[in-house]
Amino acid sequence: MSKSRQAIHRLDYTPPAFLIDRVDLNFELDETATRVTSRLVVQRNPKVASADAPLTIDGEDLTLESVKLDGALLTPAQFELTPSSLTLPGIEQDAIIEIVTRLNPAANTQLMGLYLSNGNFFTQCEAEGFRRITYYLDRPDVMTRFTTTIIADKTRFPVLLSNGNRVGEGVLDRNRHWVKWVDPFRKPAYLFALVAGKLVSQTGQHTTSGGKTVHIEVYVEPGDLDKCEHALAAAQKAMRWDEERFGLVYDLDTYMIVATSDFNMGAMENKGLNIFNTKYVLAKPDTATDADFDGIDSVVAHEYFHNWTGNRVTCRDWFQLSLKEGLTVYRDQEFSSDIGSRAVARIQNVRTLRELQFAEDAGPQAHPVRPDSYLEINNFYTMTVYEKGAEVVRMIATLLGRDGFRKGMELYFRRHDGQAVTCDDFVAAMADANNADLEQFKRWYSQAGIPQLDCSSDYNEAARTFTLTVRQSCPPTPGQPEKLPFHIPLALGLVDRRGHDLPLQLDGETMPGGTTRVLELREAEQSFTFVNVPCPPVPSLLRDFSAPVRLDYPWTQDDLIFLVACDSDAFCRWEAANTCASRLLKELYLAAARNEKIVLPAGFIDSLRCLLTEPELDPALVALMLELPGERTLLEEIDSVDPGLLQQVCQSVKQQLARELRAELLIRYAQLNDGEPYRYDSIEVAQRSLKNVCLSYLAELDEPMVGEMLANQYARADNMTDRLAALKALVNRDGGEAQLADFAARWQDDALVMDKWFTLQATSRRPGALSRVEKLMDHPAFSLRNPNKVRALISAFCQQNLAHFHAADGYGYAFAADRIIEIDKSNPQIAARLASCFNRWPRLEPKRQAMIRAELERISTTENLSNGTFEIVSKALQA
Ligand SMILES: [Zn+2]
Repeated sequence: MSKSRQAIHRLDYTPPAFLIDRVDLNFELDETATRVTSRLVVQRNPKVASADAPLTIDGEDLTLESVKLDGALLTPAQFELTPSSLTLPGIEQDAIIEIVTRLNPAANTQLMGLYLSNGNFFTQCEAEGFRRITYYLDRPDVMTRFTTTIIADKTRFPVLLSNGNRVGEGVLDRNRHWVKWVDPFRKPAYLFALVAGKLVSQTGQHTTSGGKTVHIEVYVEPGDLDKCEHALAAAQKAMRWDEERFGLVYDLDTYMIVATSDFNMGAMENKGLNIFNTKYVLAKPDTATDADFDGIDSVVAHEYFHNWTGNRVTCRDWFQLSLKEGLTVYRDQEFSSDIGSRAVARIQNVRTLRELQFAEDAGPQAHPVRPDSYLEINNFYTMTVYEKGAEVVRMIATLLGRDGFRKGMELYFRRHDGQAVTCDDFVAAMADANNADLEQFKRWYSQAGIPQLDCSSDYNEAARTFTLTVRQSCPPTPGQPEKLPFHIPLALGLVDRRGHDLPLQLDGETMPGGTTRVLELREAEQSFTFVNVPCPPVPSLLRDFSAPVRLDYPWTQDDLIFLVACDSDAFCRWEAANTCASRLLKELYLAAARNEKIVLPAGFIDSLRCLLTEPELDPALVALMLELPGERTLLEEIDSVDPGLLQQVCQSVKQQLARELRAELLIRYAQLNDGEPYRYDSIEVAQRSLKNVCLSYLAELDEPMVGEMLANQYARADNMTDRLAALKALVNRDGGEAQLADFAARWQDDALVMDKWFTLQATSRRPGALSRVEKLMDHPAFSLRNPNKVRALISAFCQQNLAHFHAADGYGYAFAADRIIEIDKSNPQIAARLASCFNRWPRLEPKRQAMIRAELERISTTENLSNGTFEIVSKALQA
């Protein structure tokens, strides 16, 4: 059987010929034969002239039992049924359609639609899962009022949840019970949700600014009730924050979060009933790291914020995905910045963007924030749509200012509440509310690729002027050979030799205007002249990472070390350290490739020494500055790279630094390892992060004392952050066999903690990593059917363990290809994600390129390969 591979194009959008005014759903739940009765009130779309178009509705993997049109049962001759649709001709204006379907949740390994997890029922409908539940106009611009009745066995499924408000419940024969839910808000089908099972809940409240009480309920499996407190508190914080920052208040009486261990994504914002991966709900100090707690804060906030940016105003079509995702990621980033350290949050976001989104935007899967076509929409839940999309929204906020941005948001909701709209509508609201011109800015939505800013400067001593010249360009990306100039906010400062920010006065201005200015770039080349500059300054460019670009400026190493010590902008300070280290690592790599040796410059070592010994600095910031640039980021910047050699170079630099800074590292570690009981607050989190960075350097020293330190921290830790940091170092150092066994014995029944155990071994740099991964696939806690396990073991190996994945024998590639083909049969969405591990093959040296190409060809010619995996692999082959 050959599949049809039909791409969908953005410009082909047409509004729906029919609308659905309301839908009444009735579920008779059964593990293998669930019966769904759906009653649709449909009418022709008054805005579309198509009086004779038939009604065609989507359906997939369903058994159709019956169709009634206005009460009359139809014979098969009266409708047309295909594997993906049901067509009813002859509807004039409006009609009531009743459809009965049967489906098998137990066989649903794709985890899209209605499926079982640990014996409980869950749904996932975004993007196109609802059509796997019943025949429906499964597109986001059809917004409908939903009523849902759930019938199930009372003993096995005591909790029955859906969207909106619970309006009735009762008992039936055969030990069954029912609950009826009504959602008062119109919504597209992708926001539908149903949960049924043996669940318990922790509850809390939030009182809105208007005095209304909102009930918050977090549902988990009975053994996990002691791990919900952080998620519940995060929901309360998010509700308060959205009222204060944007004036957005929750609109239902109850807000429910349910956790499931089988989930393709992080979490889903279904109206009033958010379904979460357990990873983003369950946490307590001895099972979750500080990063896990942070992740829960941001994902809970993200899904909650979608209630306005996504649910109340949704996307017209899936090409507009960034309308809700870019905006909501921006909102959750701002939330995390406000509840924690703004500087640290920003640096972490930029690191993720560079490591993952930049790689995507420079490779075969590069696409605009608003893509133009897709074969499988699930492939477009990407770093570009989410993270670059958030950067685009952030740039609008930078250009308009905080108040201007809020005015834009207010206009956006005034115009579009209850509608399905486009990215253009969002930008128009922002522009109109501020009388701003954002026409050129919209190129950020349509042009892919990472813009490059090449900067140079000239100081005129006689005139006391400093001129900055910026040339912008953007490399070609698939389907887009030429780019037009972007509208880019470039924030900068000028630092004098004493380390002070100079007041900035542009030529033609009568007064200086602040020490950080946002220049607006609109042309391929522009110059800006600052006057009254008393001495040659060191420019501090792209403050707070004001645009998602690569920037080059001919800073000397001394300039960079000066900025590390003096820049008032925390991001640029970190960036200077990062640029210094990254230049150095690239030089050392090239030297090693030529079999030459280079010693580390003393200035670089001394600047790190200063960071370690300066007590005034924020420990979290110091930790970030001490961390060397990641191998994945460096891989993007070296041509024809050998990942094994790159890993050796990075490790040897870390070893040299550890030897040089041994005394300072030991002192700082001892100061921070104070034996105080664990607390999760920003000060303690910052101190732990620096302590564990020091530990990771010390672990590079070949001294018995260090082995003892690691073993001690592992054994004595009262929290997962410290325990895991020690275990990671032990695993990389000598295998840590005893501790790994101890860890597994302690946590064998905790799936999320076991995920960490799998990842540590999958990412170990010690020889034999692949054979250990293969052996771990037989471990009783592992399952190829569970997305978290696939990510923890297989994706972690293929995407984070560069040296072993790219081993010269090619076994890593064959292993990945075998798993992609295998997983594609049960869960194509997860297989397609895994397949992106091959995306960067053109950056590698020729032998590895050839081996990867062969594996990509093997995957692409596999019989019955899903559209999703085919799309990723075929694009990679075209690179
Ligand atoms: Zn989202």
